[in-house]
Amino acid sequence: MASWYEVTCEVPAADSEAVAELLAELSGCGVCMENRQVDTFAVESIAPLATAVITGYFTHPSPIEQHVARIVSFLGGLGGPAPPAAPQVRLVAEEDWADSWKSHFRPMTVGRRLLVTPSWETAADAGGRQVIIIDPGMAFGTGGHETTRLCLRCLEQVLGDGAHASRILDLGTGSGILAIAAAKLGAGQVDAVDIDEQAVRIAAENCSLNQVAEQVRCSATPLKELGEGYDVILANILAEELVRLAPEIVRRLAVGGSVILSGILAEREAFVRSGFDSFPLALEAAHADGEWSCLHYRRTA
Ligand code: SAH
Repeated sequence: MASWYEVTCEVPAADSEAVAELLAELSGCGVCMENRQVDTFAVESIAPLATAVITGYFTHPSPIEQHVARIVSFLGGLGGPAPPAAPQVRLVAEEDWADSWKSHFRPMTVGRRLLVTPSWETAADAGGRQVIIIDPGMAFGTGGHETTRLCLRCLEQVLGDGAHASRILDLGTGSGILAIAAAKLGAGQVDAVDIDEQAVRIAAENCSLNQVAEQVRCSATPLKELGEGYDVILANILAEELVRLAPEIVRRLAVGGSVILSGILAEREAFVRSGFDSFPLALEAAHADGEWSCLHYRRTA
């Protein structure tokens, strides 16, 4: 089984790009920055941290002592206020590395009626909840992120209120999690779209896993090419993108229909609200979880 040297450096945030470049150049592999994980939305939306943790992976065997010496001398030359911390080196087996993230994804209840579970867990007792099975692959949406859970809870409320939901749009479907929830909560036809072809493929696979493939159409169809008259539109994207797409989103919503927006950092909520202000919408609810917000509007005319 292949192994890797994992080299971790904690550096002042201002030096993180330079150190990441050095690690990438020396290792010939990708690097990881702890404040820029996969499960975050936009790089610019993350509050700057005083320090950043940069991790690089070097094949084993490789002249790791020489690489570490280069890194130590580079860090020493950055001239920060404090002496740099020594890089930490660890030998990791490939299998651990590829699978380690899975330990963070465990079955979890959401709202009153949903249970999200990874595809590799044997089904626990669902206690009468609708089970959503997810194999996320490289797509966003395990239910581990606050914004996904905010959307799921809000969707559950909207559909639980007996809303007429024969047509639902999940804009930016990622793993397909919201579309699958909609189908399982009793929606009619669901259109799940994403600009990322890989996400579309993963969403389609997850729909099959959940036996809702007939009900959910997954595609990379751009928003502008979709029809109108959706009863519910879900969009867990990003504040800027939501505001940019606002006219196209509202146009596709049926009068009386609900739009559920998330991917909004609390400090960007006012910006999103002002972007949706000029449309015939009534704000039904604003939910928050941690530093994230979710807005639910109803189209009034
Ligand atoms: N709906 C999932 C995934 C949200 S991540 C959940 O709630 O967990 C946001 C997704 O939106 C990403 O997969 C991204 O590729 C997609 N996306 C971003 N901008 C988009 C756009 N303009 N149209 C469609 N999809 C978009």
